[in-house]
Amino acid sequence: MNSPASHVDPFDLVIFGGTGDLAMRKLLPALLHRYVDGQIPEGTRVIGVAREQLDDDGYRAHAREALGERPQLDAFLKLLHYRPLDARKDDGWQAFAEMLDAEPGHVRVFYLSTSPELFEDICNRLGSHGLNRGQSRVVLEKPIGHDLASASHINDAVGRVFDESQIFRIDHYLGKETVQNLLVLRFGNALFEPLWNAGHIDHVQITVAETLGVGRRGAYYDRSGALRDMVQNHMLQLLCMVAMEPPASLSPDAVRDEKLKVLHALKPIDGRNAMQLTVRGQYRAGVVDGQKVPGYQEDLGGKPSDTETFVALKAEIGNWRWAGVPFYLRTGKRLAQRVSEIVVAFKSVPHSIFDATVPLAQNRLVLRLQPDEGVKLWLTIKHPGPGGLRLRHVPLDMSFAEAFGVQQPDAYERLLLDVVRGNPTLFMRRDEVEAAWRWADPILAAWAASGEAPRPYAAGSWGPTAAVALIERDGRTWNEDSE
Ligand code: NAP
Repeated sequence: MNSPASHVDPFDLVIFGGTGDLAMRKLLPALLHRYVDGQIPEGTRVIGVAREQLDDDGYRAHAREALGERPQLDAFLKLLHYRPLDARKDDGWQAFAEMLDAEPGHVRVFYLSTSPELFEDICNRLGSHGLNRGQSRVVLEKPIGHDLASASHINDAVGRVFDESQIFRIDHYLGKETVQNLLVLRFGNALFEPLWNAGHIDHVQITVAETLGVGRRGAYYDRSGALRDMVQNHMLQLLCMVAMEPPASLSPDAVRDEKLKVLHALKPIDGRNAMQLTVRGQYRAGVVDGQKVPGYQEDLGGKPSDTETFVALKAEIGNWRWAGVPFYLRTGKRLAQRVSEIVVAFKSVPHSIFDATVPLAQNRLVLRLQPDEGVKLWLTIKHPGPGGLRLRHVPLDMSFAEAFGVQQPDAYERLLLDVVRGNPTLFMRRDEVEAAWRWADPILAAWAASGEAPRPYAAGSWGPTAAVALIERDGRTWNEDSE
């Protein structure tokens, strides 16, 4: 992991889908921030590609509207260019190749911010027009397939043109400051690692809760659902970061080898146990943030659907370190609060010498990914002052962003620059993506075979009551410390 301000030479970044939502809402703002920070040198070219007939000025006008008034915007917009191309047709590709060849020394990044159905066509054309030359890299956005077979198909197609070392499968959760802080907390301190095992950790919770519904992404989402959209990628990646063994170094393959071992060690959830270990839900109308909102099927325009907008599940990792430690995962749309966090709950002390009527709370390490990224360690302390030994459970704030006076960069800022530098540590390797699907596919198959519809939950709640029961059956509760 490099410092966000380390130097890069001028580069070419081609964004396929350059007029799309992701490009306008995430990629261009991230690049602008890095530019303002002085990290993107003059001479860099950011080239938007889509079918819409625009010229450079037209694209810059689109970008200006999306970015709003910002410092140094005019200078940044000069880096932007545009080429109208259809991924499925050859017209214009030769001229596009000549445009890139004008800067033979530039690192070339091809960012595929389009539907994955186009990945194969785009890569084939990049190959047949000789665009994979010099230092080229390709970035793949999620979703990489909708099951193991389709993911392998995409990986084969991309792999026919690009070497695995050139392929950057992005999972923006891995670019979050807190996730990297987890690595440093675990492996840069002597304090945690001796406790980081089944002997001392009671359980782990990973929550990715959204208050938003499916919005305009309904058609896409309805073919996907929460397990494919969130669990198979982001949440399993987070689980891997918590559970992996210490890698020998931060080299890309050392880290990814360790994550892969965790994925391989996940105990299967399939037709035999899926109904006990998983809960699927779908939101109905309700109230979120004081606003009445419609249900999922109304969001789809009245279309009946069995797609889950909520999943809770209990995973286990079958290895020495984690035997018997449940990892509870839950994610959903239209939930009570927007929060993504990892909670590592330590075992209680074996015996309390204090007032036996007051149970001692568990120590919990809470890594908050959004909103308000940060890390808190919940400790029991003595309430200061006189009045006897009154115990209090308080958070020790370990985020330090304010103390260091830094603004936390958006995950895309770091990841885009990592691609330019050619550092794939925080990107998923092919075998990781496929191992994650290998674990997720039997869950999807078990749900399909059961014929059961997802359980309804009111928008603005924490999901179906069965999700509460899933963890409470084990004598535990979902984390509620919102401090
Ligand atoms: P989007 O708004 O629908 O944009 C799609 C882009 O692809 C547009 O620029 C579109 O422009 C272009 N395009 C479509 N067909 C094309 C073709 N045949 N040749 C060349 N360009 C074509 O989609 P998005 O929301 O930006 O998402 C892009 C990808 O990122 C998807 O895979 C999505 O799942 C993933 N993703 C998105 C988000 C997000 O927040 N939006 C988050 C994570 C992942 P034209 O129609 O003019 O060609």
